[in-house]
Amino acid sequence: MIKENLLRIKKKLPENVTLVAVSKTKPIADLQEAYDAGQRIFGENKIQEMVDKHNVLPKDIQWHMIGHLQSNKVKYMASFVNLIHGIDKFKTLKEINKQAKKHDRIIDCLLQVKIAKEETKFGFSTDEIKTLLNSKELADLENIKIVGFMGMASFTEDEQQLQEEFLSLKTIFEKQKQITDTKNCKLQILSMGMSGDYPLAIANGSTMIRVGSSIFGNRNYN
Ligand SMILES: *Cc1c(COP(=O)(O)O)cnc(C)c1O
Repeated sequence: MIKENLLRIKKKLPENVTLVAVSKTKPIADLQEAYDAGQRIFGENKIQEMVDKHNVLPKDIQWHMIGHLQSNKVKYMASFVNLIHGIDKFKTLKEINKQAKKHDRIIDCLLQVKIAKEETKFGFSTDEIKTLLNSKELADLENIKIVGFMGMASFTEDEQQLQEEFLSLKTIFEKQKQITDTKNCKLQILSMGMSGDYPLAIANGSTMIRVGSSIFGNRNYN
């Protein structure tokens, strides 16, 4: 079913929207099936799991880290990770910069913005984003590049609320995009939308969706 699911989702995607296949907890065979169906971008939320999968799967896969990061593990993925979505602390950026430098790379990053009203979600506030993007400390990091924002909406079926949360992220993204243009900061990607809410996210300006269960089926955490 993985191939069918992928093709069905892709058929309806606007051209400017990138699909990240979220393969966390899924076995290698499932990723290989998606790969054989043409998928090249995979998202994982645990660094060790991503490293293990990277080691055995084809080398033209682009690996996205979508989970909450522990700084001490960044070094394990610094040689190959393609995009890091969930950055919610300056300290993490500094560590990514340090590890990227060791590999003579520039690693693309998305800043996570807190849009959900739920207390449990991570991310910078709008004010913190503005301060960070204007800071000298950020300008000094030569081995990272901020290429956009990422957000997670509340876990709710209230479409009105989801729409408000997506729109709030879109609004700050568009605003900062106009005024931010430095060597290591060019905002192009807006990562929002998951299996349950991606059509709404796209309607509200998403350019990158992170879809897991609609492709691979429900996850079993036992
Ligand atoms: C697991 C996860 C997803 C995918 O969730 P689904 O509902 O299975 O599509 C997307 N984004 C993040 C940050 C995740 O952790």
